Amino acid sequence: MYSIEQRDADLRGTTSAITYTLSFDRAPQHLVHVRMRVDRVAGDAVTLVMPSWSPGSYKIRDYAGYQGNVVAYAVKGGARTRVDASWRDKASLVVPTLGAEAIEVEYLVYCHERTVRTNHVNRFHAFLVPTAVCMYVEGRTQEIHHVRLMHNQTQWPSVSTALSPVAAPGADGVLLGALNYDILADSPIEIGDHQVRTFTAAGAMHEVAMPTNHALDIDWLTAQCERIVKVEAEIFGGVPYDRYVFIIQIYPGAGGGLEHARMSVNAVDPSTLLDASKVTGLLSLLCHEYFHLWNVKRIRPAELGPFDYTRETYTPMLWLAEGLTSYYDDLLTYRCGFTTEKAYVEALSKEHIARLAAVPGRFAMSTRDSSYLAWLKLYMQSPDGNNRFPSYYLKGGVAMFLLDAYIIDHSDGTYSLDDALRGMWKRYQADPSRGMTEDECIAIIEESTKIQVRDRVLSWLSGIDELPYEEILTPLGLRVESTAKKSDPVTIGEKIPFARVPAAPYCGWGLAESNGKITVRSVDDNAPAAQAGIGIDDEIIAVNGKRVSTIAQLDHYLGTAVGTTATVDAHCDGRLYSVSLTPIAPPSVRLVEIESPSSRQKQMRERWLRRNL
Ligand SMILES: [Zn+2]
Repeated sequence: MYSIEQRDADLRGTTSAITYTLSFDRAPQHLVHVRMRVDRVAGDAVTLVMPSWSPGSYKIRDYAGYQGNVVAYAVKGGARTRVDASWRDKASLVVPTLGAEAIEVEYLVYCHERTVRTNHVNRFHAFLVPTAVCMYVEGRTQEIHHVRLMHNQTQWPSVSTALSPVAAPGADGVLLGALNYDILADSPIEIGDHQVRTFTAAGAMHEVAMPTNHALDIDWLTAQCERIVKVEAEIFGGVPYDRYVFIIQIYPGAGGGLEHARMSVNAVDPSTLLDASKVTGLLSLLCHEYFHLWNVKRIRPAELGPFDYTRETYTPMLWLAEGLTSYYDDLLTYRCGFTTEKAYVEALSKEHIARLAAVPGRFAMSTRDSSYLAWLKLYMQSPDGNNRFPSYYLKGGVAMFLLDAYIIDHSDGTYSLDDALRGMWKRYQADPSRGMTEDECIAIIEESTKIQVRDRVLSWLSGIDELPYEEILTPLGLRVESTAKKSDPVTIGEKIPFARVPAAPYCGWGLAESNGKITVRSVDDNAPAAQAGIGIDDEIIAVNGKRVSTIAQLDHYLGTAVGTTATVDAHCDGRLYSVSLTPIAPPSVRLVEIESPSSRQKQMRERWLRRNL
């Protein structure tokens, strides 16, 4: 029976027949030593398996590749005897029991990849993702699992995780536990000297842990987390946990997040907390990952729990898991008061509608297929990917915006997507052990909002046509406008007009520049660059006979040629070639308000943007 619900009180004082003891003596070399003990063994052998992926991140990562020095023992009468274990496949180890009462396996794990879904250990901290550290015992994943951390508690006083304390920390280390392997797999651990703050909201305890080398304001961040908890809990009528941990990793170049049932791991660049104009990006990420504790961890497609950790799990429903969450993350950022109404509509316009308009792949693959093939598409995106599929985050999110607008309009403002979410939440509470089929999910949306949406929403998600913006958004007094971008007039000093600066032209290519060399990184289908015959990895050398060595220079020479044809000299596979390129003015797609909206349009729009500050 699949369950990810755990309360700290469930684990206190428990015993476990499966225990991992983690030691950090070799942390400077990015190594963790694992001693895994399995008691009450029966039969001739025990099979231990290292997962190949982490739920929430749809990519085969083959964590066993980072494992080494594996040694197995049989324990009889308290004495250990080394035994010959053998590999059944790349990640499964078969350990003979030889009539012993327990087996032990020791191994090292190399932990030196800093993302929210991989291990990162050094002399200053350890961030551990259990799917990448802890092998499971085949056939015994439903038992209690304990993890004993043997770190120097003076140097690393803070431990932040959703795993529950089993006993008070002492000379035996820090003993933590999970009711089953799925909960262990879902509970990363941050150990170090990081700052931690706590607050109580919606009747539950919350921890904010901030591992970073930067002097940043954790108290401010904690206050914003509290606001997020209150706003999101209001949708669902409370929170389903006793304790929740926000881990916020802040280091240069960081990005991304990963959701868990009682915690989230969020990673951002320090600039997001040093620059007020960037901080909404962090707050929107926190809203997103926190929202997942409902939508993905509990409300979920049938395929997303229980999991087969050894191979890909396929679902067409990431439009619900990630699309709906992407629509809600900015909406919740607005509902929390982190953005104004105007800024929210602008974000929806720029980050969702305009970004989708720049994806030729939306005409090549449906959102449902893009979800099904996430393992090979979004998570292994080729340089040509933008032409081949739309992200289920992006197109799924815009489809959910349209669905919300449709429900609000057709129910005359009585219902919205919030009601559909509450319907799905009720369904989870009635039977947490299984997720929803797509059929069931759409039936719940219809039942909760009294609006028929099935054919429509399935055509948006299964089709490759442009979404019907005009039909759906007009009732909210909105429309999507496509125009050529005009450059705004620039002035200097006392409003003296500045010299004419041509707008950067649009060629439909992505470029990279390095050491005076300009390389083509992507080419949009049917765009001027593709029509000219320019390909990925070609090097652009000259425009109209003028040598170019920076992108700014290239744009400048092409800018004077918008609408006219330029000669481009380029290089491919060791040979030079020359083609004619006709750049166009950059396209601009925007979500705008209809001029002089009717009172009903105003009413529907207000309903959509309702919030309680
Ligand atoms: Zn997400």
